[in-house]
Amino acid sequence: MRLAFYGRVSTQRQEKEETIENQLLVVKEKFEKEGHVFVKDYIDENWSGMVLERPDLDQLRLDAASDLWEGIAMYDTDRLSRKYMHLCILQEEFEKAGKQLLFVTIKTPENDEDRLMFGIKGLFSEYERYKISERFRLGKLRKARSGQLIISHAPFGYRLFKKTDKEHTRIEIEPYEAEVIKMIFTWLGEEGCSIREVIRRLTDKGIQPRKSMRKVWATSTINNFIHNETYMGTAYFGKSKAIEPKNPLKIEKYKRIKKTSRVLRPKEDWILIKVPTIITEELYNKVRARMEVNSKFAPKNKKHEYLLTSLVACPCGYNRVGEQGRYYRCSQRIYTFPVKQSCTEGGVDSSMLDSMVWQEISQLLLQKDLILDYYNRWTDSLNAKHNTYESQVKPLERGLDSLERESARYVKAFGAGLLDFQQFQELKVELDNKRLLLQAQISVKKSSADEAKRTHLTEGMVDTYCQFASAALNGLSFQQKQEILRTVVEKVTATQKEAIIYGYIPVKKLNTKEDILNVEQRPIHRNHWIA
Ligand SMILES: [Zn+2]
Repeated sequence: MRLAFYGRVSTQRQEKEETIENQLLVVKEKFEKEGHVFVKDYIDENWSGMVLERPDLDQLRLDAASDLWEGIAMYDTDRLSRKYMHLCILQEEFEKAGKQLLFVTIKTPENDEDRLMFGIKGLFSEYERYKISERFRLGKLRKARSGQLIISHAPFGYRLFKKTDKEHTRIEIEPYEAEVIKMIFTWLGEEGCSIREVIRRLTDKGIQPRKSMRKVWATSTINNFIHNETYMGTAYFGKSKAIEPKNPLKIEKYKRIKKTSRVLRPKEDWILIKVPTIITEELYNKVRARMEVNSKFAPKNKKHEYLLTSLVACPCGYNRVGEQGRYYRCSQRIYTFPVKQSCTEGGVDSSMLDSMVWQEISQLLLQKDLILDYYNRWTDSLNAKHNTYESQVKPLERGLDSLERESARYVKAFGAGLLDFQQFQELKVELDNKRLLLQAQISVKKSSADEAKRTHLTEGMVDTYCQFASAALNGLSFQQKQEILRTVVEKVTATQKEAIIYGYIPVKKLNTKEDILNVEQRPIHRNHWIA
């Protein structure tokens, strides 16, 4: 039989000895002896078995449709996946394509009983994976509990001594940096300095932060010092844990690591480790208290109202911030402090810009042609989305089917005495949760498709809207105006001579007075115009 080889190694240290070379050697030796021929190798290096989207595995699945090879050989089922669900999906897929799966560790599933064993094996390899990561986590926890440090670098003020044969990792006071920390806390706590004043003094004294490309202190660095309880002699382990990001910055097809975001754990789960003290608890608390007072009464927090808060930009790229209730001023100097600013743009009169932008926008909101055009473009785009309905809902429904089959397999395993009642119950609960999730996803996809089917807006409807809108626009409060501007305007780039408004037009639900005040959704289209 012509065979494809599939190999995978992850970065997990537990699997170091299972190199690709070893897998290749063992697999090829066994199956070539049996008279098979290898025609193509597929290798995913540094990929976790918990991730299904791997480049070479994808290629393998694509090639399964061709007659390049008749079977796939690998070391163990866990090379394909460490997730039971994934393993089932892959097994079924290859079986359907008429490709045989060969393993060194277990025999190829030929009948229902074998397939059941294959599934059970998958189940245990998933369990094993959790056990490994759990063991790893527990090991770290145990270290921390016994007072050992698990850090890769020491905070400013300390030096790290890495673990040796005789000693654990520890941190000790770095005398020069510790003096700097003491100085900073004293300035803040005893002399009532602001953070900017602290930075000015440090710069005057020629004291530099530890590693900084700009060789300049940032306010955030000083802020981190103020919030770092290590200086009082207490370090914490396990403050946060890794999760999958909710709003990823970029969508990547192939992702080695899924959990790239971090969230704080509840404080009672943190583990306290004693370290040498640099400042007293009294001084630390004094600084914290003072900083809170400062931020409450800082002049910049005095209430001035700007209609375009956080929407105005300077041509240099930095935001403009409202100042003294009179100007939108370029903020470059704040971010590059204490380096002198290079932007020479002056402040822009805030009340003038506010009223100009409001005039422009409120008129746009009453232009019939524009609204009609945008609305219809919007419904068209929704309809275009609807065309992908088939491709979006169908796979989910197939997923539901495969859950049913999985459920049947469990029942069989339970019947055959391969699972005890508790294991069976646990698996069933897990399955039910997956099913609920899929059903919810399906109903969401379906309802958005229904929404797209709604009829086009007529001219009469736009007329009605405009009547409502012009009456409503006149009686708006400051907050309501601000809300509308935030919905419609993306950015205003302003100089003393001209302003460019970049924005969106709200086109969803235009018929009532309430709706123009509560535009919920940012439409897809953008436009810009010059005031
Ligand atoms: Zn600027």
